[in-house]
Amino acid sequence: HFAKVTRVPGDPILSLMEAYRLDSNPARLDLGVGVYKDAQGLTPIPRAVKLAEQRLIDVEQTKTYIGGHGDAAFGTLLSQLVLGADSALLAEQRAGATQTPGGTGALRLAGDFIRHCLPGRGIWLSDPTWPIHETLFAEAGLKVGHYPYVGADNRLDVEAMIAALTHLPKGDVVLLHACCHNPTGFDLTPRDWKRVLEVVKARELLPLIDFAYQGFGDGLVEDAWAVRLFATELPELLITSSCSKNFGLYRERTGALIVCAGDAEKLVDIRSQLASIARNLWSTPPAHGAAVVAQILGDDELKGLWLDELEGMRLRVASLRRGLVEALAPHGLSERFAHVAEQRGMFSYTGLSPLQVQRLREEFSVYMVGSGRANVAGLDASRLEQLADAIARVCVN
Ligand code: PMP
Repeated sequence: HFAKVTRVPGDPILSLMEAYRLDSNPARLDLGVGVYKDAQGLTPIPRAVKLAEQRLIDVEQTKTYIGGHGDAAFGTLLSQLVLGADSALLAEQRAGATQTPGGTGALRLAGDFIRHCLPGRGIWLSDPTWPIHETLFAEAGLKVGHYPYVGADNRLDVEAMIAALTHLPKGDVVLLHACCHNPTGFDLTPRDWKRVLEVVKARELLPLIDFAYQGFGDGLVEDAWAVRLFATELPELLITSSCSKNFGLYRERTGALIVCAGDAEKLVDIRSQLASIARNLWSTPPAHGAAVVAQILGDDELKGLWLDELEGMRLRVASLRRGLVEALAPHGLSERFAHVAEQRGMFSYTGLSPLQVQRLREEFSVYMVGSGRANVAGLDASRLEQLADAIARVCVN
Protein backbone atom coordinates (compact mmCIF):
# COMPACT_ATOMS: atom_id res chain seq x y z
CA HIS A 1 0.00 0.00 0.00
CA PHE A 2 2.61 2.51 1.06
CA ALA A 3 5.38 1.68 -1.41
CA LYS A 4 4.75 4.76 -3.52
CA VAL A 5 4.46 7.22 -0.67
CA THR A 6 7.34 9.67 -0.97
CA ARG A 7 8.83 11.98 1.61
CA VAL A 8 8.03 15.69 1.58
CA PRO A 9 10.38 18.26 3.04
CA GLY A 10 9.51 19.35 6.59
CA ASP A 11 8.40 22.84 7.53
CA PRO A 12 11.49 25.04 7.03
CA ILE A 13 10.77 26.95 10.25
CA LEU A 14 10.63 23.72 12.25
CA SER A 15 13.97 22.53 10.81
CA LEU A 16 15.41 25.93 11.73
CA MET A 17 14.23 25.33 15.31
CA GLU A 18 15.94 21.94 15.28
CA ALA A 19 19.21 23.47 14.02
CA TYR A 20 18.98 26.04 16.81
CA ARG A 21 18.43 23.33 19.39
CA LEU A 22 21.57 21.52 18.24
CA ASP A 23 23.71 24.70 18.23
CA SER A 24 26.05 24.65 21.24
CA ASN A 25 27.03 28.34 21.00
CA PRO A 26 25.89 29.94 24.30
CA ALA A 27 25.33 33.21 22.41
CA ARG A 28 22.83 31.60 19.99
CA LEU A 29 19.73 33.64 19.25
CA ASP A 30 16.41 32.18 18.04
CA LEU A 31 14.51 34.72 15.94
CA GLY A 32 12.82 32.03 13.87
CA VAL A 33 9.79 30.46 15.43
CA GLY A 34 6.51 32.39 15.48
CA VAL A 35 5.66 32.42 19.15
CA TYR A 36 5.94 35.16 21.74
CA LYS A 37 8.85 34.86 24.14
CA ASP A 38 9.59 36.72 27.34
CA ALA A 39 12.96 38.11 28.42
CA GLN A 40 13.97 34.62 29.61
CA GLY A 41 13.22 33.14 26.18
CA LEU A 42 10.14 31.32 27.46
CA THR A 43 6.63 31.31 26.07
CA PRO A 44 4.74 31.75 29.34
CA ILE A 45 1.23 30.71 30.27
CA PRO A 46 -0.49 33.98 31.25
CA ARG A 47 -1.48 34.07 34.91
CA ALA A 48 -5.06 34.84 33.88
CA VAL A 49 -5.07 31.54 31.96
CA LYS A 50 -3.70 29.60 34.93
CA LEU A 51 -6.34 31.07 37.23
CA ALA A 52 -9.12 30.36 34.74
CA GLU A 53 -7.90 26.78 34.41
CA GLN A 54 -7.95 26.35 38.17
CA ARG A 55 -11.54 27.52 38.28
CA LEU A 56 -12.50 25.21 35.44
CA ILE A 57 -11.12 22.19 37.27
CA ASP A 58 -13.53 22.96 40.10
CA VAL A 59 -16.64 23.71 38.07
CA GLU A 60 -16.36 21.47 35.01
CA GLN A 61 -19.03 18.77 35.22
CA THR A 62 -18.67 16.83 32.00
CA LYS A 63 -16.45 16.17 29.04
CA THR A 64 -19.28 15.42 26.67
CA TYR A 65 -19.14 17.07 23.25
CA ILE A 66 -19.80 20.75 22.84
CA GLY A 67 -21.99 21.79 19.90
CA GLY A 68 -20.80 22.29 16.34
CA HIS A 69 -20.38 26.04 16.84
CA GLY A 70 -18.55 25.45 20.10
CA ASP A 71 -18.89 27.19 23.44
CA ALA A 72 -21.69 29.77 23.14
CA ALA A 73 -20.29 32.07 25.83
CA PHE A 74 -16.89 31.99 24.12
CA GLY A 75 -18.53 32.84 20.79
CA THR A 76 -20.38 35.82 22.21
CA LEU A 77 -17.47 37.20 24.21
CA LEU A 78 -14.94 36.74 21.41
CA SER A 79 -17.29 38.40 18.90
CA GLN A 80 -17.55 41.35 21.28
CA LEU A 81 -13.78 41.52 21.60
CA VAL A 82 -13.41 41.58 17.82
CA LEU A 83 -16.39 43.67 16.75
CA GLY A 84 -16.84 45.80 19.89
CA ALA A 85 -19.34 45.17 22.68
CA ASP A 86 -21.59 47.89 21.24
CA SER A 87 -21.52 46.50 17.70
CA ALA A 88 -24.83 46.98 15.86
CA LEU A 89 -24.15 43.73 14.02
CA LEU A 90 -24.26 41.81 17.27
CA ALA A 91 -27.40 43.61 18.45
CA GLU A 92 -29.07 42.79 15.13
CA GLN A 93 -27.85 39.17 15.27
CA ARG A 94 -26.08 39.63 11.98
CA ALA A 95 -22.75 38.30 13.23
CA GLY A 96 -21.87 35.00 14.87
CA ALA A 97 -18.80 32.99 15.80
CA THR A 98 -18.11 29.35 15.08
CA GLN A 99 -15.40 28.01 17.37
CA THR A 100 -12.55 26.31 15.52
CA PRO A 101 -9.26 24.57 16.32
CA GLY A 102 -7.15 27.74 16.31
CA GLY A 103 -7.00 30.42 13.66
CA THR A 104 -5.81 27.76 11.23
CA GLY A 105 -9.06 25.84 11.72
CA ALA A 106 -11.01 29.03 11.13
CA LEU A 107 -9.13 29.64 7.88
CA ARG A 108 -9.76 26.09 6.72
CA LEU A 109 -13.45 26.32 7.60
CA ALA A 110 -13.64 29.59 5.66
CA GLY A 111 -11.86 27.97 2.72
CA ASP A 112 -14.25 25.02 2.63
CA PHE A 113 -17.24 27.33 3.05
CA ILE A 114 -16.13 29.38 0.06
CA ARG A 115 -15.61 26.31 -2.09
CA HIS A 116 -18.94 24.70 -1.09
CA CYS A 117 -21.19 27.73 -0.94
CA LEU A 118 -19.54 30.30 -3.24
CA PRO A 119 -18.29 28.06 -6.04
CA GLY A 120 -15.96 29.57 -8.60
CA ARG A 121 -14.61 32.33 -6.35
CA GLY A 122 -10.85 32.68 -6.24
CA ILE A 123 -8.96 33.89 -3.17
CA TRP A 124 -6.27 36.57 -3.32
CA LEU A 125 -3.40 36.71 -0.85
CA SER A 126 -0.82 39.37 -0.13
CA ASP A 127 2.63 38.77 -1.60
CA PRO A 128 4.17 37.71 0.69
CA THR A 129 1.87 36.14 3.24
CA TRP A 130 1.95 33.48 5.97
CA PRO A 131 3.00 30.38 3.96
CA ILE A 132 0.15 28.27 5.36
CA HIS A 133 -2.35 30.60 3.66
CA GLU A 134 -0.90 29.46 0.33
CA THR A 135 -1.19 25.74 0.95
CA LEU A 136 -4.33 25.74 3.10
CA PHE A 137 -6.58 27.42 0.55
CA ALA A 138 -5.12 25.33 -2.29
CA GLU A 139 -5.86 22.21 -0.22
CA ALA A 140 -9.40 23.48 0.28
CA GLY A 141 -9.73 23.49 -3.51
CA LEU A 142 -9.65 27.24 -4.12
CA LYS A 143 -7.87 29.03 -6.92
CA VAL A 144 -5.19 31.09 -5.17
CA GLY A 145 -3.84 34.36 -6.56
CA HIS A 146 -1.70 37.19 -5.20
CA TYR A 147 -1.71 40.94 -4.93
CA PRO A 148 1.52 42.89 -4.34
CA TYR A 149 2.15 44.03 -0.79
CA VAL A 150 5.84 44.42 0.03
CA GLY A 151 8.19 45.01 -2.91
CA ALA A 152 11.78 43.94 -3.53
CA ASP A 153 12.89 47.18 -1.85
CA ASN A 154 11.32 45.90 1.40
CA ARG A 155 8.68 48.63 1.51
CA LEU A 156 4.93 48.42 1.72
CA ASP A 157 3.61 49.17 -1.78
CA VAL A 158 0.04 50.32 -1.25
CA GLU A 159 -0.25 51.77 -4.75
CA ALA A 160 0.57 48.42 -6.35
CA MET A 161 -1.78 46.66 -3.94
CA ILE A 162 -4.71 48.95 -4.77
CA ALA A 163 -4.01 48.77 -8.50
CA ALA A 164 -4.06 44.96 -8.37
CA LEU A 165 -7.23 44.79 -6.26
CA THR A 166 -8.93 47.07 -8.79
CA HIS A 167 -8.51 44.34 -11.41
CA LEU A 168 -9.66 41.33 -9.41
CA PRO A 169 -12.64 39.39 -10.76
CA LYS A 170 -15.87 40.72 -9.27
CA GLY A 171 -16.99 38.74 -6.24
CA ASP A 172 -13.64 37.10 -5.50
CA VAL A 173 -12.34 36.77 -1.95
CA VAL A 174 -9.48 38.95 -0.73
CA LEU A 175 -7.54 37.92 2.35
CA LEU A 176 -6.34 40.83 4.48
CA HIS A 177 -4.26 40.76 7.66
CA ALA A 178 -6.07 42.84 10.29
CA CYS A 179 -2.82 43.89 11.97
CA CYS A 180 0.73 42.69 12.59
CA HIS A 181 1.15 41.34 9.07
CA ASN A 182 2.90 37.97 9.04
CA PRO A 183 5.65 37.73 7.79
CA THR A 184 6.50 41.37 7.10
CA GLY A 185 5.25 43.44 10.08
CA PHE A 186 4.11 46.13 7.61
CA ASP A 187 0.53 47.24 8.32
CA LEU A 188 -1.82 49.48 6.37
CA THR A 189 -2.56 52.96 7.75
CA PRO A 190 -6.19 53.98 8.38
CA ARG A 191 -6.05 55.95 5.13
CA ASP A 192 -4.82 52.87 3.24
CA TRP A 193 -7.59 50.76 4.76
CA LYS A 194 -10.21 53.25 3.58
CA ARG A 195 -8.83 53.06 0.06
CA VAL A 196 -8.87 49.26 0.17
CA LEU A 197 -12.46 49.42 1.41
CA GLU A 198 -13.46 51.56 -1.59
CA VAL A 199 -11.98 49.01 -4.02
CA VAL A 200 -13.63 46.15 -2.14
CA LYS A 201 -16.97 47.92 -2.54
CA ALA A 202 -16.41 48.82 -6.19
CA ARG A 203 -15.33 45.27 -7.15
CA GLU A 204 -17.88 43.64 -4.82
CA LEU A 205 -15.07 41.61 -3.25
CA LEU A 206 -15.62 39.49 -0.15
CA PRO A 207 -12.95 40.27 2.46
CA LEU A 208 -11.64 37.49 4.65
CA ILE A 209 -9.78 39.23 7.45
CA ASP A 210 -7.22 37.16 9.31
CA PHE A 211 -7.00 38.47 12.88
CA ALA A 212 -4.29 36.40 14.57
CA TYR A 213 -2.54 39.09 16.62
CA GLN A 214 -5.21 41.24 18.28
CA GLY A 215 -3.48 43.20 21.02
CA PHE A 216 0.06 42.85 19.67
CA GLY A 217 0.07 45.92 17.43
CA ASP A 218 -1.21 49.22 18.81
CA GLY A 219 -3.60 47.79 21.43
CA LEU A 220 -6.60 45.50 21.71
CA VAL A 221 -9.15 48.05 20.46
CA GLU A 222 -6.78 49.89 18.11
CA ASP A 223 -5.89 46.64 16.33
CA ALA A 224 -9.58 45.98 15.66
CA TRP A 225 -10.08 49.34 13.94
CA ALA A 226 -9.97 48.05 10.36
CA VAL A 227 -12.07 44.97 11.16
CA ARG A 228 -14.75 47.19 12.71
CA LEU A 229 -14.59 49.65 9.81
CA PHE A 230 -15.18 46.84 7.31
CA ALA A 231 -17.89 45.26 9.48
CA THR A 232 -19.71 48.59 9.65
CA GLU A 233 -19.32 49.54 6.01
CA LEU A 234 -19.92 46.19 4.33
CA PRO A 235 -22.95 43.93 4.52
CA GLU A 236 -20.90 40.74 4.45
CA LEU A 237 -17.55 39.78 5.89
CA LEU A 238 -15.53 36.79 7.10
CA ILE A 239 -13.14 37.16 10.06
CA THR A 240 -10.81 34.50 11.44
CA SER A 241 -9.78 35.13 15.03
CA SER A 242 -7.01 33.30 16.88
CA CYS A 243 -6.50 33.14 20.66
CA SER A 244 -3.11 31.48 20.27
CA LYS A 245 -0.91 34.53 20.70
CA ASN A 246 -2.95 36.98 22.75
CA PHE A 247 -4.08 34.38 25.30
CA GLY A 248 -0.90 32.30 25.02
CA LEU A 249 -3.10 29.27 24.29
CA TYR A 250 -1.21 28.00 21.22
CA ARG A 251 -1.50 24.26 21.78
CA GLU A 252 -5.06 24.42 23.06
CA ARG A 253 -6.13 25.24 19.49
CA THR A 254 -8.54 28.07 20.18
CA GLY A 255 -10.05 30.35 17.56
CA ALA A 256 -13.21 31.18 15.67
CA LEU A 257 -14.63 32.02 12.28
CA ILE A 258 -16.83 35.08 12.68
CA VAL A 259 -19.34 35.64 9.89
CA CYS A 260 -21.11 38.95 9.30
CA ALA A 261 -24.22 38.62 7.12
CA GLY A 262 -26.79 40.95 5.60
CA ASP A 263 -29.54 39.92 8.02
CA ALA A 264 -30.22 37.53 10.91
CA GLU A 265 -32.02 35.00 8.69
CA LYS A 266 -29.09 34.75 6.29
CA LEU A 267 -26.71 34.31 9.20
CA VAL A 268 -28.71 31.25 10.30
CA ASP A 269 -28.43 29.81 6.77
CA ILE A 270 -24.67 30.36 6.70
CA ARG A 271 -24.19 28.93 10.18
CA SER A 272 -26.07 25.78 9.21
CA GLN A 273 -23.53 25.32 6.40
CA LEU A 274 -20.59 25.98 8.71
CA ALA A 275 -21.76 23.41 11.26
CA SER A 276 -22.22 20.88 8.47
CA ILE A 277 -18.76 21.55 6.97
CA ALA A 278 -17.10 21.49 10.40
CA ARG A 279 -18.78 18.13 11.12
CA ASN A 280 -16.71 16.64 8.31
CA LEU A 281 -13.50 18.37 9.33
CA TRP A 282 -13.24 17.97 13.12
CA SER A 283 -16.82 17.21 14.15
CA THR A 284 -16.85 19.45 17.22
CA PRO A 285 -14.07 21.76 18.39
CA PRO A 286 -11.76 21.19 21.37
CA ALA A 287 -13.37 22.65 24.49
CA HIS A 288 -10.66 23.60 26.93
CA GLY A 289 -9.07 26.71 25.40
CA ALA A 290 -12.43 28.26 24.60
CA ALA A 291 -13.66 27.60 28.14
CA VAL A 292 -10.55 29.36 29.45
CA VAL A 293 -11.13 32.37 27.20
CA ALA A 294 -14.79 32.53 28.22
CA GLN A 295 -13.81 32.44 31.90
CA ILE A 296 -11.35 35.29 31.41
CA LEU A 297 -13.51 37.54 29.24
CA GLY A 298 -16.55 36.93 31.42
CA ASP A 299 -14.88 37.95 34.67
CA ASP A 300 -13.77 41.52 35.37
CA GLU A 301 -10.87 40.50 37.58
CA LEU A 302 -9.44 37.88 35.22
CA LYS A 303 -10.03 40.15 32.25
CA GLY A 304 -8.17 42.99 33.93
CA LEU A 305 -5.25 40.71 34.69
CA TRP A 306 -5.19 39.39 31.12
CA LEU A 307 -5.32 42.92 29.65
CA ASP A 308 -2.26 43.86 31.71
CA GLU A 309 -0.38 40.76 30.64
CA LEU A 310 -1.24 41.27 26.97
CA GLU A 311 -0.19 44.90 27.18
CA GLY A 312 3.08 43.74 28.74
CA MET A 313 3.76 41.46 25.75
CA ARG A 314 2.88 44.20 23.29
CA LEU A 315 5.08 46.81 24.94
CA ARG A 316 7.99 44.41 25.23
CA VAL A 317 7.99 43.76 21.48
CA ALA A 318 7.59 47.46 20.68
CA SER A 319 10.51 48.42 22.91
CA LEU A 320 12.71 45.68 21.39
CA ARG A 321 11.95 47.10 17.95
CA ARG A 322 13.07 50.57 19.01
CA GLY A 323 15.99 49.12 20.95
CA LEU A 324 17.34 47.26 17.94
CA VAL A 325 17.23 50.38 15.76
CA GLU A 326 19.05 52.31 18.51
CA ALA A 327 21.65 49.57 18.85
CA LEU A 328 22.26 49.78 15.10
CA ALA A 329 22.89 53.55 15.28
CA PRO A 330 26.59 53.34 16.29
CA HIS A 331 27.09 51.21 13.16
CA GLY A 332 25.50 53.90 11.00
CA LEU A 333 22.60 51.55 10.23
CA SER A 334 19.68 53.11 12.10
CA GLU A 335 18.23 54.69 8.97
CA ARG A 336 18.61 51.57 6.90
CA PHE A 337 16.69 49.60 9.54
CA ALA A 338 14.28 52.34 10.64
CA HIS A 339 11.37 50.24 9.35
CA VAL A 340 11.96 47.71 12.16
CA ALA A 341 10.60 50.25 14.65
CA GLU A 342 7.70 51.19 12.38
CA GLN A 343 6.50 47.64 11.79
CA ARG A 344 3.97 46.05 14.12
CA GLY A 345 3.60 42.69 15.82
CA MET A 346 6.16 40.01 16.44
CA PHE A 347 7.57 39.77 12.94
CA SER A 348 9.90 41.96 10.99
CA TYR A 349 10.90 41.74 7.40
CA THR A 350 14.40 43.01 8.13
CA GLY A 351 15.41 43.40 4.50
CA LEU A 352 18.41 41.12 5.07
CA SER A 353 19.19 38.95 2.04
CA PRO A 354 19.14 35.13 2.12
CA LEU A 355 22.94 35.19 2.03
CA GLN A 356 23.10 37.59 5.00
CA VAL A 357 20.61 35.40 6.88
CA GLN A 358 22.79 32.38 6.17
CA ARG A 359 25.92 34.20 7.40
CA LEU A 360 24.13 35.33 10.55
CA ARG A 361 23.30 31.71 11.27
CA GLU A 362 26.65 30.17 10.36
CA GLU A 363 28.96 32.82 11.79
CA PHE A 364 26.93 34.29 14.67
CA SER A 365 24.37 31.58 15.60
CA VAL A 366 21.53 34.01 14.88
CA TYR A 367 18.57 32.03 13.52
CA MET A 368 15.96 33.71 11.35
CA VAL A 369 13.86 32.61 8.37
CA GLY A 370 15.55 32.71 4.94
CA SER A 371 13.24 35.50 3.77
CA GLY A 372 14.87 37.78 6.34
CA ARG A 373 11.88 37.51 8.69
CA ALA A 374 12.90 37.91 12.31
CA ASN A 375 10.69 37.20 15.31
CA VAL A 376 11.45 40.31 17.34
CA ALA A 377 9.98 38.66 20.46
CA GLY A 378 12.89 36.19 20.33
CA LEU A 379 15.20 39.04 21.35
CA ASP A 380 16.09 40.23 24.77
CA ALA A 381 17.10 43.74 25.75
CA SER A 382 20.53 42.65 27.00
CA ARG A 383 21.44 41.11 23.61
CA LEU A 384 20.47 43.93 21.25
CA GLU A 385 24.07 45.08 20.89
CA GLN A 386 25.22 41.56 20.14
CA LEU A 387 22.63 41.28 17.37
CA ALA A 388 23.38 44.76 16.04
CA ASP A 389 27.10 43.87 15.85
CA ALA A 390 26.32 40.69 13.94
CA ILE A 391 23.99 42.51 11.54
CA ALA A 392 26.60 45.21 10.96
CA ARG A 393 29.20 42.55 10.17
CA VAL A 394 27.07 40.86 7.51
CA CYS A 395 25.95 44.18 6.06
CA VAL A 396 29.39 45.68 5.41
CA ASN A 397 31.06 42.73 3.70
N1 PMP B 1 -2.86 33.56 10.66
C1 PMP B 1 -1.64 34.05 10.78
C2 PMP B 1 -1.25 35.23 9.97
C3 PMP B 1 -0.74 33.49 11.68
O1 PMP B 1 0.49 34.00 11.79
C4 PMP B 1 -1.15 32.38 12.46
C5 PMP B 1 -0.22 31.76 13.46
N2 PMP B 1 1.08 31.56 13.07
C6 PMP B 1 -2.45 31.90 12.29
C7 PMP B 1 -3.27 32.52 11.39
C8 PMP B 1 -3.03 30.70 12.99
O2 PMP B 1 -2.70 30.50 14.27
P1 PMP B 1 -3.28 29.32 15.14
O3 PMP B 1 -3.87 28.28 14.24
O4 PMP B 1 -2.10 28.81 15.89
O5 PMP B 1 -4.31 29.93 16.02
